[in-house]
Amino acid sequence: MRIVLVGPPGAGKGTQAAFLAKNLGIPHISTGDLFRANISQGTDLGKQAKSYMDAGNLVPDEVTIGMAKDRMAQPDAEGGFLLDGFPRNVVQAEALDEALKADGLKLDAVLDLEVPEDEVVKRIAGRRICRTDSAHVFHVTYNAPKTEGVCDICGGELYQRGDDTEDTVRKRLEVYHSETEPIIDFYRAQGLVVTISALGKVDEVTERAMHALKAEKTA
Ligand code: AMP
Repeated sequence: MRIVLVGPPGAGKGTQAAFLAKNLGIPHISTGDLFRANISQGTDLGKQAKSYMDAGNLVPDEVTIGMAKDRMAQPDAEGGFLLDGFPRNVVQAEALDEALKADGLKLDAVLDLEVPEDEVVKRIAGRRICRTDSAHVFHVTYNAPKTEGVCDICGGELYQRGDDTEDTVRKRLEVYHSETEPIIDFYRAQGLVVTISALGKVDEVTERAMHALKAEKTA
């Protein structure tokens, strides 16, 4: 399956994407993770992306679209993929459609994770992520690790993302409403959107998502 995951920052896209990709046997492709990996490796691409990310803005399309296409062209993504954080505006959505069309392919579904705005700010401000595996996500109150600062799953160091501060979160939400939300209408016009609530326990949301995707597949 070829799936796009959309939802505001803090909806749990990264967490859900990791479980869904595993269940569906397809790679999880996160442009945010690709940028962060480039930043920690000190690449030119990472240097270009950093200031935009720190300010809560989108990295320019020229950089982002090329990087996403390169990743989708890897052999593990031949049979499908789950995109998390891409596309993030209509230009990127059009570029993705074009790239798939050129290979005679198309998306199967766009999974829209819905979450109230006040919940988003609470979730992000307390979020802590494992340096070893970004799919290991904790929260200081809602999902506290047994030992502060240490990942329960692999013992890695937990850290707060530089763009998870309250001011940057508000900026990222603004960008989500103005730039990213319009892609939901873009995909709705193609009959691809399935919306589910992202509230509740992680496994409940995963189950809801799997159910919605299966229903979409057999529709
Ligand atoms: P994420 O990990 O998906 O929350 O992404 C973190 C940050 O990386 C975003 O706030 C953007 O600055 C940048 N970013 C990730 N994906 C994209 C994209 N598709 N287009 C532009 N910027 C992106």
